Amino acid sequence: MSDQSPTNDRNRRPSRVTTDQQVESPDWEDALQTPVQFVRGVGPERAALLEKLDIRVALDLLNNAPRDVLDLSNVKTPAELEEGLQQSVCGQVVDTEARLTSNGKTMSAVLIRSGRAFVRAVWFNQPWILKRFFPDSVVLFSGKPKMRSGRWEFSNPHTQWLENDDAATEDGLPVAVIPRYSLTDGLKMYEIRRAVKAAVEDYVDLVPELLSKECLDKWKLPGIRDAIRKLHLPKSMDEYREGYRRLVFQDLVEFQLAIELRRRVWWSGVPAPKMPCTAKIDSRIRRLFPFNMTPGQNQAIADIVADLNAGRPMHRLLQADVGSGKTAIAMYAILVAIANGHQAALMTPTELLATQHWQTIDKALAHSRVKRRMLTGNLTPQQRQKALEEIKSGDVQLIVGTQALIQKGVKFSNLGLVVIDEQHKFGVGQRAQFSTGTQSPHVLVMTATPIPRSLCLTQFGDLDLTTMSDMPPGRQEVKTYRVYNANTRKRAWKFVRERLQEGRQVYVVCPRVGEAGEDDPQLELSFDEEFPELAEKPQPTQPIEEELIGSAEELFEDLQKNELKGFNVGMVHGRMNAQAKADAMEAFRSGETQALVSTTVIEVGVDVSNASVMVIQQAERFGLSQLHQLRGRIGRGKHQGFCFLFSDASATDVVKRLSAMEKYTDGFKIAEVDFDLRGPGDILGSRQHGALPLRFGHLIKDRKLVEETRKAAVELVKSGQFDGPLLAPLKSAVLDRFAELMDLPRSG
Ligand code: ADP
Ligand code: MG
Repeated sequence: MSDQSPTNDRNRRPSRVTTDQQVESPDWEDALQTPVQFVRGVGPERAALLEKLDIRVALDLLNNAPRDVLDLSNVKTPAELEEGLQQSVCGQVVDTEARLTSNGKTMSAVLIRSGRAFVRAVWFNQPWILKRFFPDSVVLFSGKPKMRSGRWEFSNPHTQWLENDDAATEDGLPVAVIPRYSLTDGLKMYEIRRAVKAAVEDYVDLVPELLSKECLDKWKLPGIRDAIRKLHLPKSMDEYREGYRRLVFQDLVEFQLAIELRRRVWWSGVPAPKMPCTAKIDSRIRRLFPFNMTPGQNQAIADIVADLNAGRPMHRLLQADVGSGKTAIAMYAILVAIANGHQAALMTPTELLATQHWQTIDKALAHSRVKRRMLTGNLTPQQRQKALEEIKSGDVQLIVGTQALIQKGVKFSNLGLVVIDEQHKFGVGQRAQFSTGTQSPHVLVMTATPIPRSLCLTQFGDLDLTTMSDMPPGRQEVKTYRVYNANTRKRAWKFVRERLQEGRQVYVVCPRVGEAGEDDPQLELSFDEEFPELAEKPQPTQPIEEELIGSAEELFEDLQKNELKGFNVGMVHGRMNAQAKADAMEAFRSGETQALVSTTVIEVGVDVSNASVMVIQQAERFGLSQLHQLRGRIGRGKHQGFCFLFSDASATDVVKRLSAMEKYTDGFKIAEVDFDLRGPGDILGSRQHGALPLRFGHLIKDRKLVEETRKAAVELVKSGQFDGPLLAPLKSAVLDRFAELMDLPRSG
């Protein structure tokens, strides 16, 4: 997505720059498109290197977001340090050391020379950190130092690794605040800094201001030129932050405006069938459920009913914690569509879930005439062919299946509604595909993964949101315990056996199917791949002694011989075929097997109300939202649910995360914690979402601004300002950048 830069689709005619730095071309846009090699002091060789960083023209240099900033305003010599104050020291690595402390923790220490004195830094239980220190490399420690046996020591300091010329500036004068840029092989920090400085000095006054004066005042933003100057040549951290904020704001508000335009397309584009819900339809549907809807469910239904009758396609995200009763809402919507003579499709991410929904729906509709079908990988080619024909002819009214099956070559005769269950990993682009044709179906996306607001606003900003926060009556919170040694483990298993004897059932979840390494979820890895700019933050996956079995197949054998001897144990995982999976689930649902060893295939949607206990092996390998999903499988009936998180990992990060699971039962809160600790990768899934097309903005660091810009964008569009003459340049910048990506029309 890095080629989303506005420079790409524009004419890059070089304009000559004279020696006194006066730009000849009268056209500012041309001048900002000056090839970077002609920027003062750059030349062809450095230009070639800069190109590797996607910096091709002068404007790219101005738009080149610093990777971070070095705050040297508080750097002290060891002699100047004071105990307990936040300060920094800078020095050269002399020695590193790792050892075990008396209570079994690892301690890692780094000694640096700062001037004539030595300063020590120490970390506990982060042995990997030493890999990042090399003799003679220059580092900056920030933190609150203590005096220990005559030497200053920083515990857990914030550390920055400096390039040798990192702090060097051209005129050699000490500068307190220095932005640092991404580099490429052969390019030095001072070189890129010099190029940026030249670009700022010679070109910044040509940068157009896209926001009106009113906007700047309202959102307390500096002008764009001022901002760029402050970002790249700050005199203080405050200046840097001010400049940074403006550029992030610009970046995010353009993105949000594009999303608003996308919404406008939804609203004004292809019509959708009007599907009114009469009192008669309503009461006939409600009769199918053995319970009364909760107020939250009724509100969600009201939102949906209004959408379905609005004559334009519904695009609604229904967000509600696990167990809150989303299936009933899906069924309601589906039956409204069918009552209006339309087809409806329910899509799920897994076959297991499709099967389960099918069973629920099939049972509820046992006495109705709704013609329904499930499409799974189970079908023989002939069966599949027949099903496809029935769907095409309109003989089938309701189709339940996985997403892939429904999308591949399936033609509907009269599709009115698509419900996508548990599919939050479904970004803006993917949803566009339903909108083709002369009529769009209504789309309802349901998710139990509470998506933190800032993320929701970006990934799902074009959807209307219904959040359901109540639970069916009598639901109890799952009690969660972190189990971190052999002793407590024994006790947990004893507890499990007692519950089984009482007639309850247990899930035992493993991170993988077979041998170590082969299908490890590797959450950190996919996160890094997806968000390389965030990957710098070390994600400590400490190699741990595998005392706890991580493989479902192995544990399945082991439990039958040991902890669960005498009980019926079943197993389900993703490598079994669909029939075997369905059989294993059925055996568990019917109570034939008392314990079910599984992988995360049971993560979403599975509903066996007699299961009240869950044991999760190597819990540190799962994301928090995933753990929350998993434990949502239990405590769904009248029995108190218990979840045991088995983990031997003692890294601080792991302990923090698993403790959050003990402490919080609210999925929204957990998602926020997860988001803070790990970033958005885990929540969005690794492949589906695609990187966000942002230049400066950072979903975690800048989430306040994500909110602000969202509001701003809505306001600008609603008030008509965005379509007015004052913001015409902004609009055309937004379209240049996003029209193609988000399929936006160039006019209107
Ligand atoms: P989720 O939101 O996780 O998909 P489900 O739709 O699977 O939740 O519902 C969880 C359980 O709660 C199901 O067994 C369902 O029958 C039950 N349920 C749903 N709504 C209600 C209600 N209003 N009153 C009582 N039970 C309900
Ligand atoms: Mg569900």
